[in-house]
Amino acid sequence: MHLTKTQNQTAPTIKDMAQPLLWNDWRWQVRHCVRDLTTMENLLGIEFDDARREQYQRTINCFPMSITPYYLSLVDVENLEHDPIFKQSFPSVLEMNISADDMTDPLHEDEDSPVPGITHRYPDRVLFLVSNTCAMYCRHCTRKRRVGDIDSIPNRSQIMAGIDYIRETRQVRDVLLSGGDPFLLSDEYLDWILTELDAIDHVEVVRIGTRTPVVLPYRITDNLVNILKKHHPLWINTHFNHPRELTSSSRRALAKLADAGIPLGNQSVLLAGINDCPRIMKSLVHKLVASRVRPYYLYQCDLSEGLSHFRTPVGKGIEIVESLIGHTSGFCVPTYVIDAPAGGGKIPVMPHYLISWSTNKVVLRNYEGVITTYKEPDSYEPVFCDRNCAECDLQLELDDSVEHTSIGIEGLLADYDDTISLVPADNERHNRRSNDA
Ligand SMILES: *Cc1c(COP(=O)(O)O)cnc(C)c1O
Ligand code: SF4
Repeated sequence: MHLTKTQNQTAPTIKDMAQPLLWNDWRWQVRHCVRDLTTMENLLGIEFDDARREQYQRTINCFPMSITPYYLSLVDVENLEHDPIFKQSFPSVLEMNISADDMTDPLHEDEDSPVPGITHRYPDRVLFLVSNTCAMYCRHCTRKRRVGDIDSIPNRSQIMAGIDYIRETRQVRDVLLSGGDPFLLSDEYLDWILTELDAIDHVEVVRIGTRTPVVLPYRITDNLVNILKKHHPLWINTHFNHPRELTSSSRRALAKLADAGIPLGNQSVLLAGINDCPRIMKSLVHKLVASRVRPYYLYQCDLSEGLSHFRTPVGKGIEIVESLIGHTSGFCVPTYVIDAPAGGGKIPVMPHYLISWSTNKVVLRNYEGVITTYKEPDSYEPVFCDRNCAECDLQLELDDSVEHTSIGIEGLLADYDDTISLVPADNERHNRRSNDA
């Protein structure tokens, strides 16, 4: 890295910026986020050379920087170049290398959006962006194009339009609040949104995605937790990427949420040079479960602009999953997913365990490389399913409002669906057929 240490190390440390009481005040932290290079240099006691400085400045103009004093205090100044905290929060000049595969909205969150702020991709759940701002701007953010875009802060009437859509769309049983970071909203505003959602009968669960336990743990105040508790069933997913992020402050924040009866999950992103190592991942998931957080997803880094230097081959993710399954507790293992470009959604990717099979046996291998067989039952009377549940021997007692259609591959397997194949809409062979007709 092109920087030199400033001569004297009596420069104020980041923590000296605040009295201890203020340091723990999340609003103070937000007000003092580091957004410019000069402050960064002063706080870390470093100096960028002019060429570098200019490159960093151009990067920040394109993809803004914001780092909470708390998160910055975790940086190891002696080892900036390889520091996982620094690399997640401080721009790299490589962000300006827009590669040919990059896209501004790879996940088509805007296209699959019936009203602004809502992405309705899966049958029974929606993503609802209720905040445009974050305490810390992750350099690997998938929604980089929106970050710091002041114009798109959703106002009350936009939020209301999203809530109206959810109210009118009966199949939505799960609402995922995201952003930005929903926990940068005030307690009162969050309480209002959650109360509106509670009042909708068909919404069975609400989830909140937040990185505050990682970058701003002081946000998890008693008052916030008391509000969240009123809105069960509420789930929270957070975003730890490296074991170093599980500090005592973070662990306290997680404990408060868990004590409030909120199930906690974690979504990590696989990042080159930060956590692309089976041992780091194992250490991370162990620390998470010790804090009552269930590893939920491990994401392959997506194709958003300016992320090419963070991407790993898919094989790295598979290698990590291979190193976890069987080697550690089942509930430590996240599902490794690739969020498919163009709105295909999350696709799980796994090592293969089923090696071969015949009509009455399957051949499997375990994590140790032991190859074994499972003998299938000699007689099995399949339940023929015509979706006439009232006449069926199995005792499913559902009311009529529950969905009745099968989607995709599920339909190919179902008795009640006579679809034989799924054919792409623009299949040339099929087009020729209809032209002949
Ligand atoms: C990730 C995501 C969800 C939630 O997916 P789960 O697999 O249920 O966690 C919902 N909508 C969109 C658009 C998403 O990207
Ligand atoms: S296990 Fe290997 S890649 Fe991981 S931290 Fe140790 S030396 Fe580095």
